[in-house]
Amino acid sequence: MRYLIGRYHEIALKGRNQWRFVDQVKQNLRDIFADYRLGNVRSVGPRLMVQIPEELSDETAAERAALIFGLQNFSISHATARDIESIAREAIKRASGSNARTFAVRTKREDKRFAMNSVEIDRAVGGEVQEALGFEVDLRAPELTISIEIMNDAAYVSAGKMPGAGGLPVGVTGRGLALLSGGIDSPVAAHRMMRRGLRLDFVHFHAYPIVSAASREKAAELAAHLTRWQARSTLMLVPFGNLQREIVANTLRPLRVVLYRRFMLRIASALAERCGATVLVTGESLGQVASQTLENMAVIEKAAAFPVMRPLVGMDKNEIIDQARRLRSFETSILPDQDCCTLFMPAHPETRARIEEVEAAESRFDIPRMIDDAVRTTEVERFWFPPRAAQVAAARAPEPQKLSAKEP
Ligand code: ATP
Ligand code: MG
Repeated sequence: MRYLIGRYHEIALKGRNQWRFVDQVKQNLRDIFADYRLGNVRSVGPRLMVQIPEELSDETAAERAALIFGLQNFSISHATARDIESIAREAIKRASGSNARTFAVRTKREDKRFAMNSVEIDRAVGGEVQEALGFEVDLRAPELTISIEIMNDAAYVSAGKMPGAGGLPVGVTGRGLALLSGGIDSPVAAHRMMRRGLRLDFVHFHAYPIVSAASREKAAELAAHLTRWQARSTLMLVPFGNLQREIVANTLRPLRVVLYRRFMLRIASALAERCGATVLVTGESLGQVASQTLENMAVIEKAAAFPVMRPLVGMDKNEIIDQARRLRSFETSILPDQDCCTLFMPAHPETRARIEEVEAAESRFDIPRMIDDAVRTTEVERFWFPPRAAQVAAARAPEPQKLSAKEP
């Protein structure tokens, strides 16, 4: 019988709160395998164990397990009887497909009553594997690690540990609303906060139908992709074109970008309140573009009703691009679109906005009415991973699924 065995990342360090982390990672594992019938998920010492059902292939199990935040590494292990001959036989069977030349055996005994200690098991099994397969032992940098876990009920043997997603299980630190532009930075920012245990909803501001629907489609594709790490998401699509026109008609050029951003944060705050989020997440990085100066960030953030998290603030563009490639969001992010902000972007935006000046410019607007209009006309799209029938149908339809969004 095959088992997925995940080993906790930082969870192991969380002392009295440990049960919350373990509960969350168990729940998240169930969600990510929602289309398979998993048996009991057990937490034994520093590891999570679940039997892999017949119809779930090793490849799919590994691909999905790699999406679970909170696991340092995982392996697909085979259960065998708790005697050294069976364990050695199983180890040879697991390692025999490998083209490694060097190997090491690493044993952990959860059940210390087992007759041999870990080092003795390592040596005995290592000797048998070496003889049967001709691999060389290398304890420092083995190409293949055979892991043996001795539990109360059985011994579990695997060849090859796979890296887990690390971080903290999604949901354990709270809920946030991420501003997703369709660019390179914001999906990376969202992913980093999910990895810190934040469950996210997404919001995208667009100027459709003044411009094409391209940015909306990109945001939807990115939200669908990011959903792989948290099993379900909502994307709120806010029509922003008319509001921008109103700003353009009433504001001197240099200040417009700051006003767009402040309105985005006001609307996002109203939406966050509705979906139970207590922080906003953006992809801003200090000094990257004209609007991302310290002065502007300070003035922009004053419009938010919640703390603004900027996980990329100290990263430079190359680092962010590297992450976007690893995340596989990069290809979508670089597709051409017309962002709502480039549409009405002044040639020389203000880089040192002053709050008095900005507030004076905003005194011409009926702000509550504008926020209310935006929230009322917001559409909501839902995503699941693994995808559900509704989402698959929506993806095939010529237009994205539109749900009128009184309650996002
Ligand atoms: P990105 O690569 O994420 O688009 P950027 O380098 O283009 O960022 P800005 O345009 O200054 O930088 O945007 C900063 C942040 O503001 C974005 O990372 C995103 O979180 C948010 N943002 C900008 N435009 C939008 C939008 N149309 N919808 C939702 N969020 C947006
Ligand atoms: Mg952008």
